Amino acid sequence: MTNHLLIANGGSSSIKFALFEAGEPLKRCLDGKIDRIGFPDTILTFKDLAKNENGSHPISASDHRSAAEILIDWLTERGALASITAVGHRVVHGMSHTQPEIVTQELLAELHRLRPYDPDHLPREIELIEAIRRRHPDLKQVACFDTAFHHTMPRVAKILAIPRRFDAKGVQRYGFHGLSYAYLMEELGKVAGAKAAEARVILAHLGNGASLAAVAGGKSIDTSMGFTPTAGVPMSTRSGDLDPGLAPYLARVEQISPKQFYAMVNHESGLLGVSETSPDMRDLLLREATDIRASEAVELFCYQVKKWVGAYAAALGGLDTLIFAAGIGENCPSVRARICKGLDFLGIGLDESLNAKNAPVISTAGSRVTVRVIRTDEELMIARSVWRILAAAPS
Ligand code: ADP
Repeated sequence: MTNHLLIANGGSSSIKFALFEAGEPLKRCLDGKIDRIGFPDTILTFKDLAKNENGSHPISASDHRSAAEILIDWLTERGALASITAVGHRVVHGMSHTQPEIVTQELLAELHRLRPYDPDHLPREIELIEAIRRRHPDLKQVACFDTAFHHTMPRVAKILAIPRRFDAKGVQRYGFHGLSYAYLMEELGKVAGAKAAEARVILAHLGNGASLAAVAGGKSIDTSMGFTPTAGVPMSTRSGDLDPGLAPYLARVEQISPKQFYAMVNHESGLLGVSETSPDMRDLLLREATDIRASEAVELFCYQVKKWVGAYAAALGGLDTLIFAAGIGENCPSVRARICKGLDFLGIGLDESLNAKNAPVISTAGSRVTVRVIRTDEELMIARSVWRILAAAPS
C-alpha cells in the first residue's frame, strides 16, 4: 500500500488539509478544507487529484475538535486513513522552537503554555493535534512552526524599543509566514542555483496575510510581521504597523476597549477598513476607477510594500533578487508594477509583458535585480519537513 502524509493547517475558523503520497518527490493527491467552523453552515470541500473528483458536504462542527473528528471519519470512509503514516501541522507560533518537531506530551504541554502568545491560532491547532492523538495515539504528528524561519534574525531586528524587562518575557519580533519563506528559498535554489539563494533576497508574501522578509546567506535577517501577525504592511483586514499612540487615544476619545481594538486592527482594518467594501484585492481593483475608497486602499497597500522593499534593500546593503508570492503576489501584475515603480534606483526594472503574464521572471534582461514570481506552497513545505523528520528518525 502507498503511504501518505496528511497535512493540516488550522486557521481561526477553518482547517485546510492535504494528502501527499510519500516518496521523492512528494506527490499531492488530495486538497481540502473545512470552512466556517463554529457557524451554522460549516462545509467540507475537497479536490481528489488522484481520482479527479471534486466534492463538498455540509457538516456540523462547533469547534476544531469536532471538525477534526469529522475529518478523521471522512478520511476513514474514503479508505485514506489507513495509509497515513504521519500528520504534519502548521503551528503559527513556536517561540524558541527552531525546527519541525515530533509532537510529544512535553511539546503539547509547551504549546499549551504558549497559547497567550497567539490566542487566535494556537488553541485551534492544539485542539486539532489532540483530537487526532485521541483517536490514533500511535500516529506520528509533526509540528512545523511558522516562526522558525526567522530564528536567525540578529538581535537588532528582534528587539523592540520598549522597556527591557518585556524582552526577557519573550516580547520580541518573531515574524510569521516562515513555512512559505522556507519553501520560496528552496525553490529559488532550484530555479536559480545556490549562488542566487545565498545572495541578497527580499521575499514578499502578499496574500490575505502579507509580510516581507529580508534574507542574506539563505537566512532571515528581518521581517515585517512582529510579535503578532498584525504588524508590518496593511493586509486584507489587518492594519499593519500603527502609531502606538492610537490605542490610548481611541480608548480615551472613543471608549474603545482592548478587545474592540484587537478586533479592529485584526478584522476590520487593512484593505477592508480603508475601502469600506471588501478585503479582497480583486474586488478593489475592479472598483478602483469608480470608487476613491477602493483606489486609496490599493495605493496604500502598494506604497507600504514599496517602503518595506526600500527598507530591506538598505538592511541587506543592496539587492539581488525580489520574489513575489501568495494570492496577490502571484496573480496581480498591476500591484507588482505599482510596488516596483520608481525602484529603478535600486536596480529593479520590470518587463511589462512578462509581468502581465505572471511569468516566473518578470524583470527586464538589463535589470540588475532579478524579480521573480514563485507559487508558494506551505502544505508541500510541511510535507517535506515531515518526510525529512521521518527519514532522520525512523521508528
Ligand atoms: P491567504 O493568506 O488566505 O492564503 P491568498 O494567498 O489566497 O490568501 O491571497 C488572497 C488574496 O489574493 C486576495 O486579496 C485575492 O484578491 C488575491 N488574489 C487572488 N487571485 C488574484 C488575482 N488573479 N488578481 C488579483 N488578486 C488576486
